[in-house]
Amino acid sequence: MTPTAPLVIRPANLADALAQLHSAATDSPLRPMAGCTDVLVDLHFGKPAAPAYLDLWALRSELGGLRWTDAGLEIGALCTYADAVSNPRFRAELPMLTQASTLVGATQIQFRGTYAGNIENGSPAADAAPALMALDARLRLLSQSGAREVALSDYYTGYRQTQRRADEIIGSVVVPGHRLDCQGQWMRKVGTRAFQAITKVGLCGVFGWQQGRLHDVRVVAVSMAAVLKRCPAVETYLCGKRADEVDAAALRAAQAVDLRPIDDVRSTADYRAEVFARLVEQAVRETAA
Ligand SMILES: Cc1cc2nc3c(=O)[nH]c(=O)nc-3n(C[C@H](O)[C@H](O)[C@H](O)COP(=O)(O)OP(=O)(O)OC[C@H]3O[C@@H](n4cnc5c(N)ncnc54)[C@H](O)[C@@H]3O)c2cc1C
Repeated sequence: MTPTAPLVIRPANLADALAQLHSAATDSPLRPMAGCTDVLVDLHFGKPAAPAYLDLWALRSELGGLRWTDAGLEIGALCTYADAVSNPRFRAELPMLTQASTLVGATQIQFRGTYAGNIENGSPAADAAPALMALDARLRLLSQSGAREVALSDYYTGYRQTQRRADEIIGSVVVPGHRLDCQGQWMRKVGTRAFQAITKVGLCGVFGWQQGRLHDVRVVAVSMAAVLKRCPAVETYLCGKRADEVDAAALRAAQAVDLRPIDDVRSTADYRAEVFARLVEQAVRETAA
């Protein structure tokens, strides 16, 4: 194990957790940890993100589970992938998020990993966060001074950088009511193998059709930029089109407005650009059918 093992603080309840975050925020902020599946990787390599962690796992009764409200579905910060996909209503209303959840690591990871952790970890190759972004999810951030909401599509400010203040935690993730059971939820993850792969190129989206034309489109690019990215130019291009009106060159031109693909050990920029465009075309074809 790491020779620089950090201090781990276990709060008694949510109020205690927020008080501890508040008092540490200015001098030496505490780093929240939930299922610890990402945190442990940093610790294993002797690179803790902070000298002290705030372990939220014991707060599962306050911050866990799924709750359907007038606003939509509230996914508690300590809700794991296994918790969510074991719920039949979750699987029926959110097929894309269900698919994404079952692609995260293997069973052991799915029993510990949380949606909030996946979001805050900030990987541009994540699986659950882009599905939530395509579903217009909002984050409920909690601090001692109250709660505030931020759209997930506005949350990332740079590579693994988020809008979260040091005295805040993600309390829950809210999928709005209009996205529950919405038609055209579609995702594809391109990796080196079918399971337990890090995404080389991916797409999560909503492709809603009305009278043969696309009318409700969300496109989120995965592993294409330093952050997970909505693609407004692609969405605008597709809106109102029939499937046979989608032109390959025009689609690629719109995509170039949204994305300048990264070039790294996993894939070249050219490969990413071509595969992403083909994923959009595939999504249009399959959801139209
Ligand atoms: C073997 C292995 C395979 C994996 N495979 C995949 C995969 O296929 N796809 C994928 O997307 N991910 C994968 N992961 C990454 C990881 O499992 C997920 O990102 C998981 O959802 C993280 O959740 P967690 O609860 O374990 O987060 P933690 O590890 O506890 O925390 C992750 C980050 O989020 C912060 N955080 C956690 N909870 C909160 C909160 N409530 N408020 C504010 N900040 C918070 C922590 O400070 C930390 O920065 C894998 C990890 C491992 C070890």
